[in-house]
Amino acid sequence: MSRENKPRALYLHVPFCRSICFYCDFTHRVYRGEDADRWLKALEKELSAKEIRRDLTTMYIGGGTPTSLTAAQLERLLTLLDPYTGSLQEFTVEINPETLDEEKAAILKAHGVNRASIGFQTADEKLLKMMGRRHSFKDVGNCVSLLKDAGIGNLSLDLMYSLPEQTMAGLKKDIEAALSLAPKHLSLYSLIIEDNTVFGKKGYTPLDEETEADMYEYICRVLPEKGYRQYEISNFAVPGYESRHNLVYWHYEDFYGISAGASGKEDHCRYDNTASLKEYLQDPLKKEITPLSKEDEMFETVMMGLRLKAGISMSAFQDRYGISFSEAFSGKAAALLRKGVLVAEGDMLRCAGDHYHLLNSVLSDLL
Ligand code: SF4
Repeated sequence: MSRENKPRALYLHVPFCRSICFYCDFTHRVYRGEDADRWLKALEKELSAKEIRRDLTTMYIGGGTPTSLTAAQLERLLTLLDPYTGSLQEFTVEINPETLDEEKAAILKAHGVNRASIGFQTADEKLLKMMGRRHSFKDVGNCVSLLKDAGIGNLSLDLMYSLPEQTMAGLKKDIEAALSLAPKHLSLYSLIIEDNTVFGKKGYTPLDEETEADMYEYICRVLPEKGYRQYEISNFAVPGYESRHNLVYWHYEDFYGISAGASGKEDHCRYDNTASLKEYLQDPLKKEITPLSKEDEMFETVMMGLRLKAGISMSAFQDRYGISFSEAFSGKAAALLRKGVLVAEGDMLRCAGDHYHLLNSVLSDLL
């Protein structure tokens, strides 16, 4: 693969959290200082063994909880990444509110972090407790102040809805509370209960589909009224503050995936790094590689692109794959266009507004 074709985006997964939320099935383990020290050593090996271009445009450190590391470990992590941050336009770190302090905020700023994604979830203290979250709404406010004082003002809040026992009135309060912190970006995800989580094991159920759809409809109506443009199925931004890194995924571009539990996509292959910390410490390059056929890539381009409100560019699709969208998806696309599920406007093909929340069934029709 020529250097020019190498990814311009990098995702790094920090596989530790200070505690485990009851709904979470991400790859993580409870933070232990010595594990994190050994992980940093393995990470150093992985970074030096991989040929990563130095003129990256976006970097995203997620998890887990990157700020579960101590200040000294965070400093070490960011120092390892310094060689790759010189050209970054966007450098995001995920933060759990209760794990940030002034020292860590200053370290993030000193290493060029210019965006933070904060786990807000809900302002309802009772629900936070039920979810196993260790912070309060006040902690989120403190976290926002610490970041702003350190000079990091491009802030995104992650909210969850369709939580057990959540009401429409509760969701409205959450949105008001989130907006009172004046974030530049909001991500809102409905709760999905996986069997292997505490919620799944305890038999919690999400809200009924109708309430969930009403909540989504409310979110999509109210946030644009408050100046947040919906640009993706679950993401809203003050214009100009859309997540450049996440746009790499939605535009189906390549990206490096670094550390245990991360996935990446390079040179027509997707790879999943080992999710086991033990295996990662032994061999930080251990991964499962899945070659992607042209058909896989065409479908995944559409699957990711239709998440965007703007949809996908049909000329870009044709340039990329040497076949038009309508030929690639034969009669199926035409049928969805006839039914008004897909809408073509100029060069763009997008999901119709009233079918947006049903995207998965639209995609299965296309398949
Ligand atoms: S902090 Fe995030 S990654 Fe960690 S357990 Fe909670 S939801 Fe999962």
